[in-house]
Amino acid sequence: MRRLGMLILVLVVVISLVFVSEVGAWRVFQAFYWDVPSGWYSTVSGKVANLAGAKVEVVYLPPPSKGMSGGYSMGYDPYDYYDLGSYNQKGSIATRFGTQSQLKSLISSIKSYGMKAMADIVLNHRAGGDSQYNPFTGGNTWTDFSKVASGRFKMSYWDFHPNDIHSGDSGVFGGYPDICHDKTYVKTNIIAWLNWLKSSANAGFDFWRLDYTKGFAPWVAAYIYDNTGYPFIVGEYWDGNRNTLAWWVDSANRAGVKTFDFSLLYVLRDMCLGGGYYDMRNLDRAGLVGIRPLKAVTFVANHDTDPITRNKMMAYAYILTAEGDPTVWWKDYYDYGLAREGTARGIKQLLWVHYRLAGGSTTVLYKDNDLYIAQRNGYGSNPGLVIVINDNGNQWKGARVKTKWANTELNVYAWDGVDTSRPNNKWTDGSGYADLWAAPFGYAVYAPRGY
Ligand code: ZN
Repeated sequence: MRRLGMLILVLVVVISLVFVSEVGAWRVFQAFYWDVPSGWYSTVSGKVANLAGAKVEVVYLPPPSKGMSGGYSMGYDPYDYYDLGSYNQKGSIATRFGTQSQLKSLISSIKSYGMKAMADIVLNHRAGGDSQYNPFTGGNTWTDFSKVASGRFKMSYWDFHPNDIHSGDSGVFGGYPDICHDKTYVKTNIIAWLNWLKSSANAGFDFWRLDYTKGFAPWVAAYIYDNTGYPFIVGEYWDGNRNTLAWWVDSANRAGVKTFDFSLLYVLRDMCLGGGYYDMRNLDRAGLVGIRPLKAVTFVANHDTDPITRNKMMAYAYILTAEGDPTVWWKDYYDYGLAREGTARGIKQLLWVHYRLAGGSTTVLYKDNDLYIAQRNGYGSNPGLVIVINDNGNQWKGARVKTKWANTELNVYAWDGVDTSRPNNKWTDGSGYADLWAAPFGYAVYAPRGY
């Protein structure tokens, strides 16, 4: 009996690991953009219920610490890591986004809906320190962080490049003092700060987005993963070469350490802006997600870059039906009118598609210059789907493809295009074949009726 019990325990562990790795594609929502109005935390608080209703799982918030430019800072110039809007320094108590107590209440609200809060973590550099004589440069540098109001995580020239162990690391940003991650004092204090951020007494964050990971070695991400409770981590390695992105996630080599898929962003940009002349065959296994599906966080715009100025729904249709962890951006959802709540033609419906239909591996069923048709093969209670994307700007396009469903009515759950009329439902034949279509500059998501 003990052996049987052990066997069952092992089976349960193995099954749950498989389940986690397969279904662990988080739906992320980036809840800010560059130069948001001051008091932003209260604006986000007003949308938390709406985001939960849209099946968002992770709310990604801006860097929380007081920056060098105080109440004007977007947080990428961190001065006092422990000042989340509670000390009067750099010209204000609140950060641009609000006070620490407003942040705590926002995160508490996010968690009350079962969602997770992700912090933007800036570790490449630090800003706003006082000038001090630096023996490693022979002159003065802005590396004196001994006067931070929190009194915590003070730093000096020893903790930046160049110092006694390094002249530098892989990248510097904006001329700010470049942190040396090989210093034991720095490593210890970064981990202490992140675990402090996790506590609901201080903030309550669950997950990390690591800013500017070109600026330090991949082991730093692994070290943070191992020492902050194995959270979901997404790095910002801004590079369009998917092999470089694969090198970064492979080097970090941790299940939960992923990276934003800039290589897919540029593929989707070229598709959406191609005027109908993009070769849709390029969508097959495109981007980092095509080669590291469990390590790619897909997106089509963020606070730094928003290159897809036309036909953006085609890009959202791709990432919200594909593998990878899809990220929806605030401006697209709330400001550019692409949520389209109450219709099947917007991001909200595609989030539902990801939640209820998408899952499993991908089989490309058809591709030519104008048309890309792929099937998600299903996983668990999610049946899978077929996505049709057409980049012809004038004509509806379709093809006869072999789906996984025989003698089944395929419902169109989501669609959009220049022509907004609803594509027809289709019955598959006894071998699973059906003729599936999408509108000009459009898409359609098919799956068995009844979900
Ligand atoms: Zn160093």
